Amino acid sequence: MSAPGSTASLRTANQRRVVEALRADRESELSQAEIARATELAPATVSGIVKTLSAAGFLESERGAGRRGAMVKIARSAGLVAGVDFGHSHLQIALGDLAGNVLGTISRPLKNDHDHAEGLALAAELLDNLLAGQGAEHPDLRAVGMGLPAPISDGGTIDSGSILPGWVGVDAAKVARARFGVPTLVDNDANLGALAEHALGVGVGSTSMAYLKVSSGVGCGLILGGKVFRGGLGTAGEIGHLTMDDLGPLCRCGSRGCLEAYVGADALIAQFAARQPDITMTELIGLALDGDTGARRLIEDSAQYLGRAAAILANVLGLELIVIGGDLSAAGDLLFDGIRNGIRRHALEPVARIVRVEQAALGDKSSAIGSLLFALEAVELPS
Ligand SMILES: [Zn+2]
Repeated sequence: MSAPGSTASLRTANQRRVVEALRADRESELSQAEIARATELAPATVSGIVKTLSAAGFLESERGAGRRGAMVKIARSAGLVAGVDFGHSHLQIALGDLAGNVLGTISRPLKNDHDHAEGLALAAELLDNLLAGQGAEHPDLRAVGMGLPAPISDGGTIDSGSILPGWVGVDAAKVARARFGVPTLVDNDANLGALAEHALGVGVGSTSMAYLKVSSGVGCGLILGGKVFRGGLGTAGEIGHLTMDDLGPLCRCGSRGCLEAYVGADALIAQFAARQPDITMTELIGLALDGDTGARRLIEDSAQYLGRAAAILANVLGLELIVIGGDLSAAGDLLFDGIRNGIRRHALEPVARIVRVEQAALGDKSSAIGSLLFALEAVELPS
């Protein structure tokens, strides 16, 4: 790490601008003149950076067709990054190159009471399989990004808010770094879902959006000013425990009437037990879409609560887009129509007119792909 303001730190910052410009390009390749325009760096500075990073094997240039001249791109041999996403009952891994292109994903069921060491061991095993599928090995890995369904403060330790008991009290970044042996960044899974939907999904071009992940819990990642907003404590967006009714059902957090106690998977499954015990969320949504009255009612009521919560978010933050992901989003328009209706009822009129509600474009891969993109921030550039 160089001292801020030093020549070395300026050089690193300029290198990052060049690399980020290449990642932001749809084809992940630009001519030197295009890099200079995108980064607002002097052509001579760009030329020097391209020369340094090419000599180190991080960039490569190829003479392109047409008049654009030699095209610069991030070399495939520069390495790979991985995203590791722990959910309530699954583990998903994504592997990508240093330009941020996703090369493959793999998912396995994982019980929510797993010990963190057991979860990380499975992640490392799956990651090795993905690497082998690309003809790569562990030394090709440059960084890992990891998502957990828990509020993660700046300190990085998972506290009691987690729905993964085997991770409570654990310094997640530290144990993950020790396991993977490369720089590892950890964030809340909904923040990472927001990052992915903003970069590659339905939120491309949006400057203020929320990504709501409605599965076992209700996570929320915020993009404000085009960047993930983590707030002063690093835990912004915890809307799952917004009180909908003081006298409502008891929530796992100890409070009553939280949003999650109405729309979380456990709550919906428990309520449906009167009609059918031991049902999964996928089956419950299937029944609702087939017209089962009780199942439909549960989804429609969930939409009302989510609509109210989304309206509060949109009012406070001036959001233009609300992306819905997670298991419940498979209910489609049955859910979205209700959320849109809730926003019409509860948001300020000018806010309600503008804010859009959309289904996550990356489906159940949002958080894993977001973890992969987050890992890019930890990749060290050659000096
Ligand atoms: Zn709660």
